[in-house]
Amino acid sequence: MKKPQLVVANWKMYLNIHDTSVLVNRLNKKVPLYRNVEVVLAPSYLSLQPVSMEIDHRKFRLAAQDGYFKDEGAYTGAISFSQLRELVNYAIIGHSERRRYFGESLDEIRDKLSACVRNGITPILCVGETKQERTQNETKQVLHDQIVTALSDLTSEDIENLVLAYEPVWAIGADEPAKPDTIDKAVDWIRYQVRELYGQKAESSIRVLYGGSDEPEYVAGIMEIPGINGLLVGRASLNFEEFSDIITGVHLSGLSNE
Ligand code: PEP
Repeated sequence: MKKPQLVVANWKMYLNIHDTSVLVNRLNKKVPLYRNVEVVLAPSYLSLQPVSMEIDHRKFRLAAQDGYFKDEGAYTGAISFSQLRELVNYAIIGHSERRRYFGESLDEIRDKLSACVRNGITPILCVGETKQERTQNETKQVLHDQIVTALSDLTSEDIENLVLAYEPVWAIGADEPAKPDTIDKAVDWIRYQVRELYGQKAESSIRVLYGGSDEPEYVAGIMEIPGINGLLVGRASLNFEEFSDIITGVHLSGLSNE
């Protein structure tokens, strides 16, 4: 059975508990139930519990923005996937902001991915090159290294549920998304890596998202790219009207591709 398209809202370190609740209530009212789109919200850890009580579960699922790779122990300040599993279906792993500001290594990301899978949480693995890496023609190598290391402890069965998000670092928080041609080439390469490592079945089962300055006006163009199964949205997901328009755009693009 064809998996639904996926739209993920990454609310990063924005919104307190009250403001998150206001946004969730607006989304509950505004977003229709589309059978061909799965919508996932990633609020801060603090809001996961209250949001889980507030969302219309027919329309929304929850994701953690990160998690620690150990299941339990004396790790002050950390939150494990075994604690998160009661609340979330998904977790964003290896976001470029985690790599950049928190020094997350490829090995750490691999361990987080395994911890997610061990705990029944579907990982959304973010990969993407910086501006400098693109300028120096290193995009393919960077994507290869990020994917090969991150997936190295997973079986082909684990891989079938995986979500990969192509997020060129230079397109995050930018004026506009990467050009369709650029996304197309990167997604092709990402899918090729998965096929080489785990075979055709794994490659055709994964979902690949694009993330980086998504806005409603760009949705149709991005969703036309072969091999794209949805979007990871930052800024625009903090505005309930824009986010709702993005979800509708993904829904419509799914209908026209049927
Ligand atoms: C992100 O950080 O994952 C992201 C896609 O952000 P933005 O949409 O704000 O570029």
